[in-house]
Amino acid sequence: MPKFELPKLPYAKDALAPHISAETLEYHYGKHHQSYVDNLNKLVAGTKNEGLELEALVKKSTGSLFNNAAQHLNHSFYWNSLSPEKNQSPAGPLAQAIEKSFGSRAGFEKQFTDAAIKEFGSGWAWLSLNPADNSLVIEVTADAATPLTSGHKPLFTCDVWEHAYYIDYRNARAKYIEAFWKILNWHFAEKNFKENLIPEVIGHR
Ligand code: MN
Repeated sequence: MPKFELPKLPYAKDALAPHISAETLEYHYGKHHQSYVDNLNKLVAGTKNEGLELEALVKKSTGSLFNNAAQHLNHSFYWNSLSPEKNQSPAGPLAQAIEKSFGSRAGFEKQFTDAAIKEFGSGWAWLSLNPADNSLVIEVTADAATPLTSGHKPLFTCDVWEHAYYIDYRNARAKYIEAFWKILNWHFAEKNFKENLIPEVIGHR
């Protein structure tokens, strides 16, 4: 039995339309993500890495093992960063932290959008929590790289590989990112924020 499996998509394939189509999910989830899982299973089979959990594997691996393990993790996280409950807004402590770090929600969305558009090749844009001081950071990683390896805790991610948007938007990454905000799962981000805050730092910044 293969160790790693494609996780169940947390919504129907047509639930994000018209922002992300069912056809995109058929390819992106059904073929791209599936192939990272299949490659990963082949790479760990019969090796000492077979016993490792995914996050541990991502943190200690390099080369194609890292690429496939991290892409499995990043995509699993990305599906949860999206929601058919459209046009959500951040609330509570996360909304306050965004205002504190970026001035306003609009200012944050502009900075994040600019960073995601400017990433030259394939990669990911993230809102992460730096647990060293509970600050929020926008970061962009290339290829399969993930903030987890630098100790940051991702709150949500936007996949900016062309395969994430080419069917729906062709080369227009900016149009895809504009649509991304409408299907962003702020509830998921809030949950990740609360779970990773270092309690003793709250109120001391
Ligand atoms: Mn992808």
